[in-house]
Amino acid sequence: MAHSHHLGALGQRKPCRGDHNLHMPEVAVHTSEHSVNTMSTDSEFRVAVMPGDGIGPEVCDVCLKVLHALVTRVAGLQLMTEVLAGGAAHYRDTGVALPDESTKAAEDSDAILFGAMGLPDVRMPDGTEINPQVTLRIGLELYAGVRPIKAMPGMPLPLADPRARDIDLVIIREQTEGLFADFQDKGTRDGDTAVDRCVVTRAGTSRVVDFAFRLADFRRSKGRPGHVTCVDKANVLTSMAFFREIFDERRGNFPTVDAGHAYIDATALNLVRQPRTFDVLVTENLLGDILSDLAAGLIGGMGVAPSADIGDRHAMFPPCHGSAPDIAGIDKANPIALLLSAAMMLDWLGERHHVSACLTAATRLRQAIERGFANGLIRPYDFGGTHGTRKIAQTVIDNINTR
Ligand code: ATP
Repeated sequence: MAHSHHLGALGQRKPCRGDHNLHMPEVAVHTSEHSVNTMSTDSEFRVAVMPGDGIGPEVCDVCLKVLHALVTRVAGLQLMTEVLAGGAAHYRDTGVALPDESTKAAEDSDAILFGAMGLPDVRMPDGTEINPQVTLRIGLELYAGVRPIKAMPGMPLPLADPRARDIDLVIIREQTEGLFADFQDKGTRDGDTAVDRCVVTRAGTSRVVDFAFRLADFRRSKGRPGHVTCVDKANVLTSMAFFREIFDERRGNFPTVDAGHAYIDATALNLVRQPRTFDVLVTENLLGDILSDLAAGLIGGMGVAPSADIGDRHAMFPPCHGSAPDIAGIDKANPIALLLSAAMMLDWLGERHHVSACLTAATRLRQAIERGFANGLIRPYDFGGTHGTRKIAQTVIDNINTR
């Protein structure tokens, strides 16, 4: 069951020209060759919203309110949202995790805003969790999982080293194969042995590695080092030796970007010891899954870690966190991760369709969040504070309105 809502054409708005090239670079790689001079301000975008399970619905709910505030403030920003069914609770109630109607609407949308799906006590017959997010990633070929990890001024950080304030890295996780390759047919299993394959293909690796290089090049143009680290276990696994080989083949196409390799175990250590030294990291599916949780821990946890699942035709914007059922429904979920993912969505729409209003809105949203942390007005529970989901969203909305 889906319902639509226009967020466009509301009220009288003040144009915010001039700041659109401050946009976040993480999702700009597909269209970075286009000049902002060719951009228009108007275009309505259809956003498919999948709230899902646990804290997903509550963080989506406040995210829609924040997007509404942006629409009223940013000239030319027009969004039509459609809320779609799906998730573990839906599976429990209907026997279907992701209805065809939702898949179709997501495919037809301009972008997908995704809450969280999965509940620990709702399982498939083989014992695995309901995971429509992975189904969508594979089905829509969202091959690049983009996980920016950036500290903000005023954000309490877990690392004692004050230089942790300079953390600004992006993990690019391959999302259609690797150790998740058997996700759809569930690997093989008998009474004594279970096997999942790690599938690394030339095509699958080339496209994600190229994505990482283009991103590093774009970030270099914005003052970052422009360095890609290939993270693997090439010393042990044939599949990962192949991943590294393809990385080395592709790097020649990006002469302005530095490149290096690191093993996953050493990377886990060095991300904690010297996170400032990393720029862009590219890695296999499961390694990227684990590494992005570790990296989120460097800036305080899952509540502030956004992500984007990008393909050549579609893109989905979930937070890094899952459904966190332990804090669902009690207004304690930190909505910042999803709000930052929404900013990435606006950037991606703006870059892809050359609509400067989206880039302006993304910048304004990010600034509203940064101001909240800097002023001490955003102190979520997961940072030892007392600000709940709704209060944090209201602070962001107030900052959007009073910029
Ligand atoms: P998944 O397997 O779906 O990725 P997970 O098992 O890794 O999920 P999460 O849902 O990501 O678990 O959350 C782990 C814990 O982190 C939660 O139980 C919760 O306590 C905390 N947490 C996650 N997201 C948030 C958030 N947005 N705000 C506050 N705390 C959070």
